[in-house]
Amino acid sequence: MGKHCKYCDSQDVVDYGYGSFCRGCNRKTTIVTKDTPNAKNVNPLPKRVPCPHCSKKFLKQLDQKNHLAMVHKIGYTCSICGFVLVSEKSLKNHMEWKHNL
Ligand SMILES: [Zn+2]
Ligand SMILES: [Zn+2]
Ligand SMILES: [Zn+2]
Repeated sequence: MGKHCKYCDSQDVVDYGYGSFCRGCNRKTTIVTKDTPNAKNVNPLPKRVPCPHCSKKFLKQLDQKNHLAMVHKIGYTCSICGFVLVSEKSLKNHMEWKHNL
């Protein structure tokens, strides 16, 4: 039950683990399976954003910024009430909503 070589006419093809070898033309044929270890459908762990001030890690950059503002008081500080905000934009919103500026 020799397999026919696709490169030459020989039927002297030997199967081995991951492919076959033709004794007629000395060619190796490697079988590429879909579930090789390098397959790309292995879900990588989502990259987390670490807090530079404690050991916490966050899924989103915004979560980290919120944490920095809430816990470590790092961000944009309101000059009126001292509230710390994540971004310049949220500080502006804060000014408008809280202090009617
Ligand atoms: Zn061959
Ligand atoms: Zn932290
Ligand atoms: Zn304020």
